[in-house]
Amino acid sequence: MARTPLIAGNWKMNKGPEESVAFLEALLSQELPEAPDVLVCPPYISLPASAMILTGSSVLLGAQSVHWEESGAFTGEIAASMLTELGVEWAIVGHSERRALFGESDASTSQRAAAAQAAGLVAVYCLGETLEQREQGQTMQVLEQQVSAARDLNPTRLVVAYEPVWAIGTGLNATPDQAQEAHAFLRQRLATLFSDEAAAKIRILYGGSLKPSNAHDLLRLSDVDGGLIGGASLDVQSFSDIIRAAADCAAGA
Ligand code: PEP
Repeated sequence: MARTPLIAGNWKMNKGPEESVAFLEALLSQELPEAPDVLVCPPYISLPASAMILTGSSVLLGAQSVHWEESGAFTGEIAASMLTELGVEWAIVGHSERRALFGESDASTSQRAAAAQAAGLVAVYCLGETLEQREQGQTMQVLEQQVSAARDLNPTRLVVAYEPVWAIGTGLNATPDQAQEAHAFLRQRLATLFSDEAAAKIRILYGGSLKPSNAHDLLRLSDVDGGLIGGASLDVQSFSDIIRAAADCAAGA
């Protein structure tokens, strides 16, 4: 099953509207390959300016989270319909920083993803084990629990991002063997939750200190369908180098 790779940039709390526009103008001026799909996820405040710049381009636009309710007393939150009104078509949910710093859980992650999908967005569903869980041999158990919370979602609007927490922003990446093992396990679990056919189509991204120097080794793996990239997505050169590495890997180079 050939899955079009996806390279997604999670800018976190970086780049206001002006900086986002400058970055996107520079990205669009690069000669980028047709595949992979490319997604950028700026902070909410930069989405309107980013949407304007990206109109008519092939670069996709996503939010970094989304709330499950349509409207109401949820200070600081954004509804899925507010995103679609801007032309945003993707939303990250359950990023480990949301889980660790803002108390999000498997249950709220699946609620956010369900609301996103109901509004027509694609949910980028993040999961991954902590260092302590890996050291205690609990990685697969943790992944199983986290991915099982996605059971009621629509697999056709779902991308899974395996992001070992110990690799995020640390400069330490999973080895190719660790990444392939986790991705193959997740795909097998997705087949149980949905179907073999659905699981074969779901893109599973790797995230955690992905950068130009390790992109080939990780993106060429059979169950790694692209990357969710934090730090290295903030720089046009390194982000586009990763995009090119994904294109090379998809072409078998
Ligand atoms: C992330 O935040 O999703 C991430 C993978 O960050 P980094 O690439 O900086 O490790």
